[in-house]
Amino acid sequence: MAFTVTIVDGTRLVMPNTCVVCGTPCAGSLSYTQDHPPITLPGIAFLKHTELSLPYCATHGRRFYRRFSRLRIAQTLAYILAVAVGFTTFFPPVRQALSLPNDPSTAEYVLLCLTFAFLVLSIFAIKPFLYDVFVNIRGNEISFLGGGPVFRESLIAANLGNLPEVI
Ligand SMILES: [Zn+2]
Repeated sequence: MAFTVTIVDGTRLVMPNTCVVCGTPCAGSLSYTQDHPPITLPGIAFLKHTELSLPYCATHGRRFYRRFSRLRIAQTLAYILAVAVGFTTFFPPVRQALSLPNDPSTAEYVLLCLTFAFLVLSIFAIKPFLYDVFVNIRGNEISFLGGGPVFRESLIAANLGNLPEVI
């Protein structure tokens, strides 16, 4: 279970200079756009993005980029595969050109379903899981979900007086 640190007034947020993963003091920070899992209502999907700049040491910054570039490569390959299998499954001229039987096989349907399932999962389940810290902004309030213990402690220490009141 990941911990959450909530900052009441986000405009007065003081970001500590400690890597969000390992807690090493670091001068650099990583700027990226965080994608939230889509909120889906019948027929509509809302995509929410948050622009972030978080302290990262060189090592964990590199790992962050590597993880996301691998995800992008996997998504691109799955997308190309889905389009290719979709075309060969449903377009008779393509089937004829490739000398495939007229009726698509079960294996083709299964492959198509699996590639689509991966694409959907990669957006809903895999991507949010790849962030070291997940940031949620609601009005003025900012909450940080996850992150290493040193980062969490430094974040709390740097923002005393700007934390939710404990009743
Ligand atoms: Zn680090």
